[in-house]
Amino acid sequence: MTLAPERASSTQPDIVPNPATNLVCKHCGATYPLSPTHVCVECFAPLEIAYDESLLAAVTRESIAAGPNSLWRYSGLLPAGHDPRLRVSLQAGWTPLRPAPRLAAELGMRKLWVKDDSANPTHSFKDRVVSVALSAAREFGYTTVACASTGNLAQSVAAHAASAGLRSVVLIPHDLEAGKTISTSVYDGTLVAVQGTYDDVNRLCSEIAGEYEWAFVNVNVRPFYAEGSKTLGYEVAEQLGWRLPSQVVVPIASGSLLTKIDKAFREMGRTGLVEPTPYRVFGAQAEGCNPVADAYQRGAETITPVRPSTIAKSLSIGNPADGPYALDVARRTGGAIVDVPDDQIIDSIRLLARTEGVFGETAGGVTVGCLRRLLREGRLDPDAETVIYNTGDGLKTLDPLVPTATPTATIKASFTAFEAAGLGH
Ligand SMILES: *Cc1c(COP(=O)(O)O)cnc(C)c1O
Ligand SMILES: [Zn+2]
Repeated sequence: MTLAPERASSTQPDIVPNPATNLVCKHCGATYPLSPTHVCVECFAPLEIAYDESLLAAVTRESIAAGPNSLWRYSGLLPAGHDPRLRVSLQAGWTPLRPAPRLAAELGMRKLWVKDDSANPTHSFKDRVVSVALSAAREFGYTTVACASTGNLAQSVAAHAASAGLRSVVLIPHDLEAGKTISTSVYDGTLVAVQGTYDDVNRLCSEIAGEYEWAFVNVNVRPFYAEGSKTLGYEVAEQLGWRLPSQVVVPIASGSLLTKIDKAFREMGRTGLVEPTPYRVFGAQAEGCNPVADAYQRGAETITPVRPSTIAKSLSIGNPADGPYALDVARRTGGAIVDVPDDQIIDSIRLLARTEGVFGETAGGVTVGCLRRLLREGRLDPDAETVIYNTGDGLKTLDPLVPTATPTATIKASFTAFEAAGLGH
């Protein structure tokens, strides 16, 4: 056996080894080769990526720091994108970890940061997962990428596909807000408005996925897509100076993001990138779509699906695939999962804007609202180092703010009118 020369040639300076070894069933542990598939044929549970621990452990702080200022600095810890020539990238990631002293003071906290993923190329955290998913799709030889979405995923898939010369087919409910339709359509992929609800769109997608050789980012390449969320764990630890925060608050839609932040923290502790210090993971949902918070509250193991009705549309998944795993993470780490009503989501968007100059989308309002509730109920330690995740830009969800975010006054164009309105004091 003369493996050594091949090894050497596969690790040219800018090509890192792929640490992913296979797919593994999250329920029964059955393993499968790395391939575009997402469900265990034994038990129908979701599949996830498993890694070669020694390859993960070979990644050092120095090798990461020498990488690009994007999520691809962690390519040695991801299942796709190891060859930069095949990588699909708009340079998502490496977003600011903003100290939030004024918000902390208002809430009676000592040390608080906002991980601000509104700074991504299409202004939501979805750019991380899409970049990894489309890189995997290209490596598998797909030339068409597709998804069902209510907005953030749609725009990100259309943008990344455009940049890589891939064909995109994005399916959305026909009654989506104009802003979301425009910001997807502009990239000139195929955009299909379906006369039905998001659930109808999803069902249609599964049917199409069975008939066409396309990479559906949240269906057949979902295990690869999901790993992109690990970078939101890695980055926070690196930006804190290579250590884990004590507490994190994470918004939940399918629950994938929350479980992958935990996966990243555990992995870094195991491989020696950080000290394996204890941390607690808190989940945040809107009251109008709270299946995971509800199960947490009831002490249940399984999720009871709900019909979503909330302004937090980016989190509106009534039957979240990773909900049970998010429950496990919150319980294992000593966290909790709570919800907030819509009026507090709006109030919390404004609080974050007023104190820190960060305009989050409704998902950010959910996170800040849940942080406040957790503090009020004494479940989150106000003295411990805490990171909250703002996963999207407020410009994406203006509608709920229209009634209240108005000018201080509307006046005639004269100095006397300005004085009369009492605006000088
Ligand atoms: C998709 C999304 C999330 C959560 O994603 P899951 O991994 O499905 O839980 C959070 N915030 C925003 C803005 C999103 O678009
Ligand atoms: Zn299984």
